[in-house]
Amino acid sequence: MNPTTYEPIRPKTVLNPVKAPSMPFDWSINPYRGCQHGCSFCYARSTHAYMGESADDAFQKHIFWKQDAPDVLRAQLRRMRGRLPAYVAIGTATDPYQQLEGKARLTRGCLETLAEFGVPASITTRSPLVLRDLDLLQRIPGSSVNISLHMLDPDVWRNFEPSTPAPRLRLDAVRRLNEAGIKAGVFMAPILPYISDGEEAVEGLLDACQQADAAFVSPSYLRLSTPEVKSWFFQTLQEAYPEHVKAYGRLYWRAAYVPEAYRKPKLEWIRRQIQARGLRSQELAAIRSPKPAADVPNASALSPADDGPVQLTLF
Ligand code: SF4
Repeated sequence: MNPTTYEPIRPKTVLNPVKAPSMPFDWSINPYRGCQHGCSFCYARSTHAYMGESADDAFQKHIFWKQDAPDVLRAQLRRMRGRLPAYVAIGTATDPYQQLEGKARLTRGCLETLAEFGVPASITTRSPLVLRDLDLLQRIPGSSVNISLHMLDPDVWRNFEPSTPAPRLRLDAVRRLNEAGIKAGVFMAPILPYISDGEEAVEGLLDACQQADAAFVSPSYLRLSTPEVKSWFFQTLQEAYPEHVKAYGRLYWRAAYVPEAYRKPKLEWIRRQIQARGLRSQELAAIRSPKPAADVPNASALSPADDGPVQLTLF
């Protein structure tokens, strides 16, 4: 197995505008490209192509980190005085609390900068390392955390998420964040047809979310957005769950999303289960901040080119 390599890059911008109307946020920050968590369903794999890398093993083994990201962010926010973002989504492409963050502290540095300017952050992660930055989150009113978790089963976890922290640690993070006054919920994603959407699995996970006092649960099904992502996912499926390969072929062979006829009744049932436990079923509410306009200093320099097309890692 190849060792993991880390490569610094010097971005011109760190705060990137999100232009896709379907995304519930206008600005994003991703301190890293590539993700050591290496989830086999990760649709951010395709973004590695923008670094001239492949979407396969290199995505988790060749990690680019944005040198001086907190300072670059500070300079950007200074230029945006008077039109600061209402909030910023951190971790829309790759996990901001992947292993390297323990040492590199780029996400922490960016949060420090956001705190200086009073800009709240919404963080998406699979790691309880976010607890390290509780002090900063508490300094920025309105900040929130989305912990991604779609199963409790240890085999499903390890088969599809080779290097993420254990589900119970993530649930504990949800509980501790809420206890500390930070709104934290669960992105129940990606729900895997036939594997993590059975009644027993879903109810077990929702019971655990309830016990963790999750502020919300937001369910969504697996999306296989590109041929590269599909190919990597099917490789894992073939190895770990060969009995489901044909069924997945039928569901995904022509589309990135599972067909509505399959998804809709399942999601309706899941939402009822969420509500039955007194939990809030949160959809991706649009909380949009002012768009960059042509007359905003440096608006034209706020290019998404640093990250390629924005992808939302709900899962
Ligand atoms: S799904 Fe999230 S945690 Fe997993 S590899 Fe992708 S970015 Fe990393």
